[in-house]
Amino acid sequence: MEVSTAYLPQAIFAPSDRGNVPPPRVFISPQRYIQGRDVLRGVGRYLSLMRAKRVALLMSEGRNRNEGVQLLDGLRSAGIESVVGIFRGECSIEEITAHAEALSKERIDCVIAAGGGKCIDTGKGVAFRLGTPVVIVPTLASNDAPCSALSVLYSPEGICTGAEFYPNSPAFVVVDTGIIAAAPERYLVAGMGDAMATWYEARVCLLNPAAVTTVGARPTLASCAIGEVCAQTLFKEGRAAAAAVVAHTVNESLETVVEANTLLSGLGFESGGLAVAHAVAQSYTAIPRVHANYLHGEMVAMGTLAQLMMESRPDEAARVAEFFATVGLPIHLGQLSLDADDQSALEVVSEGTLAFPFAANMPMPVTAELVRSAILDAHRLGLAVVKKTGDAAYRRLQRC
Ligand SMILES: [Zn+2]
Repeated sequence: MEVSTAYLPQAIFAPSDRGNVPPPRVFISPQRYIQGRDVLRGVGRYLSLMRAKRVALLMSEGRNRNEGVQLLDGLRSAGIESVVGIFRGECSIEEITAHAEALSKERIDCVIAAGGGKCIDTGKGVAFRLGTPVVIVPTLASNDAPCSALSVLYSPEGICTGAEFYPNSPAFVVVDTGIIAAAPERYLVAGMGDAMATWYEARVCLLNPAAVTTVGARPTLASCAIGEVCAQTLFKEGRAAAAAVVAHTVNESLETVVEANTLLSGLGFESGGLAVAHAVAQSYTAIPRVHANYLHGEMVAMGTLAQLMMESRPDEAARVAEFFATVGLPIHLGQLSLDADDQSALEVVSEGTLAFPFAANMPMPVTAELVRSAILDAHRLGLAVVKKTGDAAYRRLQRC
């Protein structure tokens, strides 16, 4: 995995000249987080806080057309000019550079990125290159990208290649729950898969004195507590929130889970730390049929189960797997279009996991053999859980 050298947070927070002094605790967050029904209409008003007069709006073509029209109307009525850029599907260096170059002569005050995780991450990279703040408007609650000061980078073909970090967090994160409620259920559920990992990964980092967060710091108690509340929220409200999306209704359960998927998970992972759950998940993107058919949070769900088995916590893994089964997340290899006998796929995933820097946050030495056996243990657990609970929710979501 490569890390873009544009800005290296470790050099700021954990420089090598600190000797044996442990890294400091660092907490990172966006400046403002605003969530609720119809908040999209207020974007122009929120931008008045940063005195923006001319903005670039990055969004995907097609799916977000309605949100785009609403955003542009809101900006116009607040007297803010806008330039629109169309996001073309992958958060690659090529995509980020093309938008930054196209906008370099436009004299804009900020970049608004409206869309899914990859569009949002592209917007952060564009804003960094233009030297402007970024405003994030997630149209899905399928991942925890909105609040963080980093982008996960992919090749133009969609294989995860690394990450890029930024000195500034998003200025605003504006989540309109009316838009989230109108999106397919599968996206909200995938967000729960991504968010559930947060507590388990932060817990590993908190308990291991040698573990560091994404910026090279020690986890804060605040971010770990946030991660724990995130998991509790999903166990309690996850099913009801998914039902709300099926009914296209915004209710308290949905508001609570959207906050868990977006704010709690975002703050929890960035300042609490990552571990093997995300290492395994990102490695699945190297298998084309997995990358083409599954969402990030679905791969993280499988990674979380593997991590819990690696930690020798089978009871907790079973509890999580049962929850995943009830909301429709994959819990065994067959549900990711993989076969437990496919040695070459398992090798790709275990080698990829070792290359992911935060796998080293685990308390034990992580070897390819350990990764492989954790994945297979999680797979067997998943099969047993499916036998007990059935796979109706998973099947329904895969048809979405
Ligand atoms: Zn994630």
